[in-house]
Amino acid sequence: MKVDDKSPKKPLIFYYLIAMVVLMLLNALVFPAMMSTPVAEVGYNDFLTMIENRQVKEVAMEDSQILFTATDENGQTAIYKTGVWPDEGLTERLYESGAEFASAIPTQDSPLLSFLTTWVFPILLFVAIGQIMGRMLTKRIGGNAMQFGKSNAKIYVESQTGKTFADVAGQEEAKDALREIVDFLHNPEKYKNIGASLPKGALLVGPPGTGKTLLAKAVAGEAKVPFFSISGSEFVEMFVGMGAAKVRDLFKQAAEKAPCIVFIDEIDTIGKKRDGAAGIGGNDEREQTLNQLLTEMDGFDGTRGVVILAATNRPESLDKALLRPGRFDRRIPVELPDLNGRIAILRVHAKDVKMEPNVDFDTIGRATSGASGAELANIINEAALRAVRMGRSAVSQTDLEESVEVVIAGYQRKGAVISEKEKKIIAYHEIGHALVTARQKDAAPVHKITIIPRTSGALGYTMQIEEGERVLMSREEMLSQLATLTGGRAAEEVVFGSITSGASNDIEKATQMARTMITRYGMSDQFGMVALETVSNPYLSSDSSLTCSPETSARVDAEVQGMIAAAHDKAVAILKENRELMDRLAAYLLEKETITGAEFMDILEKYDAEKQQ
Ligand code: ADP
Ligand code: MG
Ligand code: ZN
Repeated sequence: MKVDDKSPKKPLIFYYLIAMVVLMLLNALVFPAMMSTPVAEVGYNDFLTMIENRQVKEVAMEDSQILFTATDENGQTAIYKTGVWPDEGLTERLYESGAEFASAIPTQDSPLLSFLTTWVFPILLFVAIGQIMGRMLTKRIGGNAMQFGKSNAKIYVESQTGKTFADVAGQEEAKDALREIVDFLHNPEKYKNIGASLPKGALLVGPPGTGKTLLAKAVAGEAKVPFFSISGSEFVEMFVGMGAAKVRDLFKQAAEKAPCIVFIDEIDTIGKKRDGAAGIGGNDEREQTLNQLLTEMDGFDGTRGVVILAATNRPESLDKALLRPGRFDRRIPVELPDLNGRIAILRVHAKDVKMEPNVDFDTIGRATSGASGAELANIINEAALRAVRMGRSAVSQTDLEESVEVVIAGYQRKGAVISEKEKKIIAYHEIGHALVTARQKDAAPVHKITIIPRTSGALGYTMQIEEGERVLMSREEMLSQLATLTGGRAAEEVVFGSITSGASNDIEKATQMARTMITRYGMSDQFGMVALETVSNPYLSSDSSLTCSPETSARVDAEVQGMIAAAHDKAVAILKENRELMDRLAAYLLEKETITGAEFMDILEKYDAEKQQ
C-alpha cells in the first residue's frame, strides 16, 4: 500500500475553490433575493383602483415605469410597478389619495448591499485567489513560510512492502548481512544497552536486476517497519534548493516514524563525485543535495532505529565522502546469480505459475549463465505468456526453452522472408560454429542450433551450455572459444567460397575476447602478465581504458589480429577435414530448422562410427 504522505495538503486548494464558488453564488443569487422585496407587476387599471381605494403609500416615477408601494386588504405592504400612461391629473389624484411622492423606491439593492456586492466581495475574491497562488508558489519553491515550507517531496511510506527474504532467492551473503539490520530494527534496545551502534547506512552494490531493490524491501518486510523509498533521480529537481529540502524532509519524516528504513535507490544520481568545477550550469544543485544528505546522516543519532539503505550499480562513481565511517560504511555486494542461484530464482518465480510437473529448471539454469534475477523472472513470465498463446493450461519445458531465447536472443521473427540460398548459408554458418566446437577438446557442448531468425537481428543461433558453473576459464578454453566464434565465417568460406555480413556479431565478440586475453588476463606470450587496460567499472565493461603507450597499443592490435587469424585457420582446417559431416549436418538443420544438441551429436557419432569401419 502506498500512501502519499503529502496528500492531506492538496485538498486545501479545493476548499478555497469551493469557497470561491459559494461566494459567487451568494453574490449572484442569494443575497439579492434575500435583501430585496419582490416587485409585482400590475396593470394600469389596478394602479388606478388602488389610488381610488387609498391603498398607495409611496410612488416614484421612472422613465418607463411607475413604482409604488401599496397596502392590500390584509394590511400587507408590497412593491408594485406598472407602465406609464398619458394620464392628466394623476399627480393630483395621488396627492389627494394621500400617497407620498418618493424620489426612488429601493427595489433591488440596499446601498449597503450594492456596496458589498460591487466592491467588498470581488476584492475578497481577488485576495483569496492571490493567497492561493502565493501559497502554491511558496510550496513549489520550498521556502519556509508557514506550514507550506515543506518541499513537495514525494516520499513513499510503504508500511507493508509485502516482501520477505523468502522472496529473494540465492544472495545468501547479502541476506546474512541484512539480517543483522533486521534484528537491530526489531530490538534496538538490545544494541543500545551494550553500547553498540550499528552502521547507519548500508550500500547494496551490484549489477542491474540482481535484486537490490527487492532486498531492501525484504528487509522492511522482515523487520515490519515503515519503509521510506525514494530514488536518487527524484532528488534532482527543477528548482535549485529543492533537492536539499527534500532530503531534510525525508529525514525529518523518518525520525518521526522510527524505527524505520530509508531506502535511497540509485544513489549514484546524487552521490556522484563532486568535481568542484561546477561553473555555469554546473552541478550546484546536485552537490547541495549531496551535502545535505551527508549533513543529515552525520546529524542523526544512530541508536534511534533509522537505518539507511542505498543501492547503486556504479559504486566507483560515488563520492568518497559517502563511504566514510558513520555513513555508508557497510557495503553489501549483490552479484549476478550462479547456477544454483539461477535455479533457485527460477523456482521462486515459478511458484506463482502453473508448471507441468516434468519441467527441468536445471537445464534452464545452465542455459542462462550470466542472466540476472530480473531476466530470469522475465523468462518465467514469457514462458507463461507463451503457454497461454499456445492454449495450454500449464507451462511446459518447451515454453521455458523458447522464452530463454526470447529473453536472451530476442523474439522469433514470424513471417520473415529469407531466400533458400540465404537459409542455406545460415545453416552452414551455424553448423560451422557447432562443428568447430564439437571437434575441440575444451569447448562447451552444443545444446541447440536454430536457423529461425530473431528480432535481435541474429539470423541463426547456436546455444552452448557449460557443464558446470564457470568461475575460471583457462587459456586453452578461451582459444577454443575463439575458434568456435570464427567457425561460422569459416564455414561460409569453405562451402561457398565467399563471405557474408552475417558474422559481424561473431567478429565483435572474438575481437573483444582476444583483446581481453592480452590486456587483462595476461595470456599473451608477447606481453606476459602486464595489465594493459584497467576497467573502471566492472559492471559496465565498456568503461575501460588502455594504460599503455600508443606503440604498445599498436602491438596489441597486431597481436589481436594474429590470434584471430590463428583461430580462423584452425576453424577452416577443422571444417575442411569434416566437409562431408558438415554437409550432412547442414542438410538436417535446413530441413528441421531447429535441432537439439542430442540430435547433433547423434549424427556426429554415427558419422564417426561409419569412418571407423
Ligand atoms: P535491482 O534493484 O538490483 O536492479 P530489482 O530488485 O529491481 O533489481 O529486481 C528486479 C526483479 O527481478 C525483482 O522484482 C524480482 O522479480 C527479480 N529478481 C531479481 N533478483 C532476484 C532474486 N535474487 N530472487 C528473486 N527474484 C529476483
Ligand atoms: Mg533497483
Ligand atoms: Zn555466427
